[in-house]
Amino acid sequence: MSLPVEKSASDELRREVLRRRTFAIISHPDAGKTTLTEKLLLYAGAVHLAGAVQARSTQRQAKSDWMELEQARGISITSTMLQFDYHGARINLLDTPGHQDFSEDTYRTLMAVDSAVMVLDGAKGIEPQTKKLFAVCRKRGIPILTFINKMDQPGRHPFDLLDEIERTLGMTAVPFNWPIGEGSGFQGVYDFQQRQVLFFQRTSHNQRRAPMTVEAFPNPKLADTLGEAYGPLQEEIGLLTGAGTSFDRDRFLAGELTPVFFGSALTNFGVGPFLDAFTTLAPPPGPRHSAQGLVQPTDETFSGFVFKIQANMDPQHRDRMAFLRICSGRFEKDMMVYHARLGRKIRMTRPHRLFGRDRETIDEAYPGDVVGLVNPGLFTIGDTLTSDPTVTFDPIPHFPPECFGLLRTQDISKHKQFQKGLKQLEEEGVMQIFYSPDHVRREPVLAAVGELQFDVVMSRLEHEYGVKTSVERMPHTMARWIVGDPAAIAAVYWPSDTVRLVDQQGRGVMLFTTEHLLAYCIKSNPSIKFLLREEVA
Ligand code: GDP
Repeated sequence: MSLPVEKSASDELRREVLRRRTFAIISHPDAGKTTLTEKLLLYAGAVHLAGAVQARSTQRQAKSDWMELEQARGISITSTMLQFDYHGARINLLDTPGHQDFSEDTYRTLMAVDSAVMVLDGAKGIEPQTKKLFAVCRKRGIPILTFINKMDQPGRHPFDLLDEIERTLGMTAVPFNWPIGEGSGFQGVYDFQQRQVLFFQRTSHNQRRAPMTVEAFPNPKLADTLGEAYGPLQEEIGLLTGAGTSFDRDRFLAGELTPVFFGSALTNFGVGPFLDAFTTLAPPPGPRHSAQGLVQPTDETFSGFVFKIQANMDPQHRDRMAFLRICSGRFEKDMMVYHARLGRKIRMTRPHRLFGRDRETIDEAYPGDVVGLVNPGLFTIGDTLTSDPTVTFDPIPHFPPECFGLLRTQDISKHKQFQKGLKQLEEEGVMQIFYSPDHVRREPVLAAVGELQFDVVMSRLEHEYGVKTSVERMPHTMARWIVGDPAAIAAVYWPSDTVRLVDQQGRGVMLFTTEHLLAYCIKSNPSIKFLLREEVA
């Protein structure tokens, strides 16, 4: 597959690959991810007034019944995609849900990006969810740009924040700009690259781009303008310039170093220069691992993988959308591709481009792009689609479930819808379902990474499939697939705090309440394997 790029790639494909930037924003809830997203769209000219996106999504949400849960809880559960152009770059922003219970969904999205922007609240610094998401980026070696937000509010000292990034995340933090003024006195930033000061002015309701003026620094005129702030600023800049930690692109691309930008997404201060820097620094799509070696984006053979399935995004259509990240070659509407898992060819009909919850049909797409495919049950997460049948991308790992519960329904007449809903939600990766062996007990057991997923399952079953359910929490916290000689497994005397179940494929699964209990069972049954889901063949 990896033919020499120079010979195989058409100029057009290469140009399109080079101008793509596919990224996600990682942050703890409330750090300002949504606000920054909106302001990036404002600066890129994709919306003309900040507020437009939210207004539209609110309007849509009002129509979409299962989004009620999102609204009620004020959190973002569904990921959305945004594509926009900026100074010749084509930017794909994959939104990730911020709530910790949705980390698996976020994790899958991070498998599909080439870089990430880490948004920190300037008063709070690194928060628990930031750490978790960072760990995923680190594992994948994704380059991270850091935006320290809310500088218009009293916060921690910038030195302290840089220090925390280095200490907590083990990543070198290189400031690209430095805030001028604190809290309500925040007026702009010093730009280390250009060695100049950028001042911003607020606009009415922060809806428009903040007018910016540029001044050389140091500059005696500024001493008057900045008054008392001038001396310390000069000192800090001198200190940082002399400190000698310079930007190293290779270390940035390896995820070992992060360029840091200070700003305020709310007032738009520093957002424009950040978008410029992002476009310059963030890498275009790179090669991707497959079972057959690296696949280069400029390979002319088309390839991509499904990283997300979402049902009923549009209640008027009630369909399921599979999200395909393109890895190599040119995607064309109606092309025939090989579906590795099914072992057959399928036609790529009705591919969509997504913008938040809006969608439109597209004719072509390139590596780095995400295409929405209306999914008549053909795709599951991790599927490889390619015009070269020998390529299969590495599977997307699962998070081990930690919450379990019995799912009950009183609507016996709605058995069919109930089963259909469960099947579809499991295909989306919302949760996993286990049954008791021989169906002694009829209720399925839900297995989820976080408890909030139970609410999502109940809410979606009710609103999308018309089935009312309730969940009874179980005390178990771990699941292991039991593999070994069936006679040996049948002979085991399982301790009382375990539960024996089967998954959809009929494979035996045991639930355990504690690590201790699991360790005891492993020790007492040396001939049996206790495997995580991805370890099961
Ligand atoms: P998310 O949960 O990370 O998406 O955060 P949001 O973008 O929804 O922001 C959370 C809250 O912080 C909202 O009330 C925003 O108005 C506020 N916020 C976001 N950015 C800033 C900022 O730069 N300064 C201030 N003062 N507030 C901000």
